[in-house]
Amino acid sequence: MSDALRITRRVRHDLKFRPLTVASVQDLTPDLRRIVLEGPELAGFISPGFDDHVKIFPAAEGQAPILPTVGPDGPIFPEPRPVARDYTPRAYDAATNRLTLDFATGHGGPATKWAMRARVGSVLGIGGPRGSFIVPTAFADHVLIGDETALPAIARRLEELPAGVRAHVVIEVADAASRLDLHSQAEVALTWATRDGAPRGRAETLLAAVETALAGVDPSDAYVWIAAEANVAKALRGRVLEMGFSPRTMKAAGYWRLGGAGGEKINLD
Ligand SMILES: Cc1cc2nc3c(=O)[nH]c(=O)nc-3n(C[C@H](O)[C@H](O)[C@H](O)COP(=O)(O)OP(=O)(O)OC[C@H]3O[C@@H](n4cnc5c(N)ncnc54)[C@H](O)[C@@H]3O)c2cc1C
Repeated sequence: MSDALRITRRVRHDLKFRPLTVASVQDLTPDLRRIVLEGPELAGFISPGFDDHVKIFPAAEGQAPILPTVGPDGPIFPEPRPVARDYTPRAYDAATNRLTLDFATGHGGPATKWAMRARVGSVLGIGGPRGSFIVPTAFADHVLIGDETALPAIARRLEELPAGVRAHVVIEVADAASRLDLHSQAEVALTWATRDGAPRGRAETLLAAVETALAGVDPSDAYVWIAAEANVAKALRGRVLEMGFSPRTMKAAGYWRLGGAGGEKINLD
């Protein structure tokens, strides 16, 4: 199973900070807002990994974004240090220099507040991606588990998986209205795990759905990717390991922390 086609790798990119302008705002579901950003500064933008992230620098209302600069030893941050949050490049169109980000809404941090008041012409600074983690598509089975913050990465991954592989996907969302159409050439078994009024950031909904969705899946040639609230992702990782999936072909990350602002990636591997 571990042949050369299944080796993951990390790629570094030159760091760049870019001031961008909002080209469009669209609510994909009641709690997922798509914002397309544009600007000539996007020329040369690169994001080869489906779970890449850019740092966004959401300015407070009425203020212009203040971006770090790149010095010889890395980024130089202005003081006070601007607020930054991580978001997945959902799509980038080099022909039009447009970058798509999808924001899970329904909570009150600065990134979400920025997304809720964004209009065509609003400005947002971004930095990165600084690096990418490349997971080959050659695995026979691809397990993708996450909440709405993971949905942009999962949707991206599904679009890049080729025909002839299987994807087992479990996504937690609020309710039936929060489901999205997802596209893939792979054979997809998709479970929408709906909270139906239960609070966000608890493990029960995803754990129960994962038990059912992965029962009978052969772990021998599978890659597992998990992203959700940090403790939820940790619980999921533990359960999936118990089900026989290998830690060597698994990546689990906390995409946010219940009760803790910041949204820095928390690696659990
Ligand atoms: C690598 C990576 C990629 C990511 N990609 C995306 C993406 O594409 N789309 C996306 O929507 N998010 C994504 N996230 C998650 C996002 O960075 C966090 O949700 C972030 O905390 C949001 O910032 P904020 O300013 O809105 O809230 P914060 O100021 O960070 O937090 C404010 C409060 O809201 C809570 N909170 C934060 N996020 C959530 C949430 N999702 N649901 C409920 N409560 C929450 C916190 O616990 C805190 O109490 C990603 C995170 C990482 C690490």
